[in-house]
Amino acid sequence: MTADLHIIGGGLAGSEAAWQAAESGIPVILHEMRPVRGTEAHQTDSLAELVCSNSFRSDDAANNAVGLLHEEMRRAGSLVMRAADAHKLPAGGALAVDRHAFSAAVSKALENHPRVRLSREEITGLPSADWESVIVATGPLTSASLGASIADATGQDQLAFFDAIAPIIHRESIDFGIAWFQSRYDKEGPGGGVADYINLPLDEEQYRNFVAALLEGEKTDFKQWEKTTPYFEACLPIEVMAARGEQTLAFGPMKPVGLQDPRSNRRPHAVVQLRQDNKLGTLWNMVGFQTKLKHAEQVRIFRTIPGLEKAQFARLGGLHRNTFINSPRLLDEQLRLKSRPHLRFAGQITGVEGYVESAAIGLLAGRFAAAELLEISALPPPRTTALGALLSHITGGADARTFQPMNVNFGLFPEFPKSAKIRGKDRKQAMSARAMQDLSGWLSGARWEEAAAE
Ligand SMILES: Cc1cc2nc3c(=O)[nH]c(=O)nc-3n(C[C@H](O)[C@H](O)[C@H](O)COP(=O)(O)OP(=O)(O)OC[C@H]3O[C@@H](n4cnc5c(N)ncnc54)[C@H](O)[C@@H]3O)c2cc1C
Repeated sequence: MTADLHIIGGGLAGSEAAWQAAESGIPVILHEMRPVRGTEAHQTDSLAELVCSNSFRSDDAANNAVGLLHEEMRRAGSLVMRAADAHKLPAGGALAVDRHAFSAAVSKALENHPRVRLSREEITGLPSADWESVIVATGPLTSASLGASIADATGQDQLAFFDAIAPIIHRESIDFGIAWFQSRYDKEGPGGGVADYINLPLDEEQYRNFVAALLEGEKTDFKQWEKTTPYFEACLPIEVMAARGEQTLAFGPMKPVGLQDPRSNRRPHAVVQLRQDNKLGTLWNMVGFQTKLKHAEQVRIFRTIPGLEKAQFARLGGLHRNTFINSPRLLDEQLRLKSRPHLRFAGQITGVEGYVESAAIGLLAGRFAAAELLEISALPPPRTTALGALLSHITGGADARTFQPMNVNFGLFPEFPKSAKIRGKDRKQAMSARAMQDLSGWLSGARWEEAAAE
């Protein structure tokens, strides 16, 4: 007899975690507050409800990191992927689903599972260690009282209520004929470097045109309930700052002080700075560029910045209501809260972004928790897989000081050695092939599944 696994939240992550653990022989109690208490976005009491789009994005496992994640999850026996495949709709290369049939299929599979019990209640505080193993998967709209309890346990400044995502760029797509490395005043950073930033210069005319484009660009609106959430003033969108005056940005995030363009040996009129976003050094974020511009507009406008003409974006900017913890600081490699290891976190609250990524972290949390209750070891997936790349990003690969939610993308994967000379499409395909091979090793090495079945 093993102890029960308690999972709080029956969304994408909690449902997948419940399935993975139950399938390995663990009794699961899934606590879901709907319909007793609703959220601002959910409309039904179904498990794994899709609150907005009905798309799981690209299903191309050979060329796209989220497509690869789909395929890895299928091979790991994912319920979310099984239900999505069973209820897919025509959508070209994307995996779009009939949202009601999808959620109904997930709900039915869990309600009928002999080892899953569904408890419709709000959990208002983090459970004590009387519950031996817990997964918190309450998502971007975690209820207020549980959010307060998490903030008490982790420290108020380790839990965010909004994400403020600046666009993130693949380093290999930046033109270093224009860009240069330098920190303001060559000041030494915490890592000892004096040239930690990538700088992109704008002359006065380029700057004026850029500000005009920001003001004219098409934006998405804040929802009414997002406007009333605290902390919004602290991270203003770049276009809102631009609207306060033509030179506001040149005295704010685009100020050129302490910088000298090595091509002209002069200080530019304004500068866009990029800061390293992952340990691998493959991803760089645009400092201070959180934005509500529509995605296509971001690509169009940001590619007018000198040096970014061919920029490839690992993710685009945004600003949303979103509860998430500082996972790189708080969680260990098995998603346990370091200070209270009977608690695991999964889903969007760990700082991944999107339905698929949330379910993927649920899948891992469910497996890790099950292995622990069965007293068998479970290694994290290799970093060369999409599951492993995402996990290692949120549990240490990302910079804890500037942590913001992340989609899966090939920039999170370890690069091939330069000598291999694998570029562009070939690089993605080689990364996918490597991932598939390494995933097989990981899945077949996970002997605990068989042990659980005995
Ligand atoms: C408005 C909005 C739009 C979005 N649009 C998209 C999109 O188009 N595409 C995309 O990929 N992602 C989108 N996202 C992100 C999306 O929420 C996540 O990708 C995904 O749903 C997160 O999965 P999750 O399991 O972590 O959280 P959820 O799916 O939200 O599940 C969390 C569950 O926990 C329950 N819960 C919360 N607090 C408690 C409590 N105290 N006790 C018990 N139960 C609790 C909730 O009722 C919910 O069922 C959107 C998010 C929001 C807020």
